[in-house]
Amino acid sequence: MCGQGKVLVALMLTSARDPGIIPRSLQPPEEELSFDSTSIVDSTPSLHVPRTKEVMVNGLPMKVKYCDTCMLYRPPRCSHCSICNNCVERFDHHCPWVGQCIGLRNYRYFFFFVSSSSVLCIYVFAMCALYIKFLMDGDYPSVWMALKKSPASVVLMIYCFLSLWFVGGLTGFHIYLISSNQTTYENFRYRADKRLNIFDQGCLSNIVEVFCNKIRPSRNDFRAIVQDSVLGFSSMNRLQELEDNSGSYPRSKVQDEVDITGEILKISQRGNIEISDEEMGGNTKGFPSFSSDWKSVGAIDAHSKKGVELESA
Ligand SMILES: [Zn+2]
Ligand SMILES: [Zn+2]
Repeated sequence: MCGQGKVLVALMLTSARDPGIIPRSLQPPEEELSFDSTSIVDSTPSLHVPRTKEVMVNGLPMKVKYCDTCMLYRPPRCSHCSICNNCVERFDHHCPWVGQCIGLRNYRYFFFFVSSSSVLCIYVFAMCALYIKFLMDGDYPSVWMALKKSPASVVLMIYCFLSLWFVGGLTGFHIYLISSNQTTYENFRYRADKRLNIFDQGCLSNIVEVFCNKIRPSRNDFRAIVQDSVLGFSSMNRLQELEDNSGSYPRSKVQDEVDITGEILKISQRGNIEISDEEMGGNTKGFPSFSSDWKSVGAIDAHSKKGVELESA
């Protein structure tokens, strides 16, 4: 019962915690806005936010992508979950069994859940086998007679054996990921490219980072009253305002509404499809500045010290 309780507590902590959702920005970063003269549609230049921006991680350049849905540049290791429709810090994967994203704030609980499930499966299987052995040592000399005496043990053993393939495999895989400081997403995405893992700080440090680093408080107030602006209309109006203020690109009101509706549709469609993330960069020109807000992100904090050392060396 105690083992089952631990599994259930770990499951609850995994599914009920904020995985590290980054609150959406109400408007695109103004300092990055520029008129895109290359994509002229109907002779009207459109406001354009650069798709990528370069930041330094552990002294190495890394490209981070702009998220159209959340209207922000994703911090390193962050990705937009197409199911939850949110940008999640240190995005690992979306777990359909738990019904939640696995990210920076609930990864260790997810690992406890998976590993304790494996231990529970092994324990139940072993106890059932032991019980069958006791029966055989007693009044039921053959295996067949002992199994017939306790069909529940047979069912449990089959169930645990099958489950162990799944949760045991998952536990082994995540032990490998933790020791090499990778997320499931990075492993699947970058393995084929054979890219350098710039987050790897050595096995012990990687394990300490996952299990011993303090988990930051959530950046979201889920009990706050929803404002109209959260729906994205204010940001669209802001874009509109900026375009109007530029003075030289008048449009008719009807045309604007059609464009805005189209953009909302495009953005929502893109948001549903997009799960792509940052890419390692080679070009050192571009956008070296990194928002001060991002510097507070735990995923970056964990690595920034090493980065500073490398940069200053
Ligand atoms: Zn996003
Ligand atoms: Zn998700």
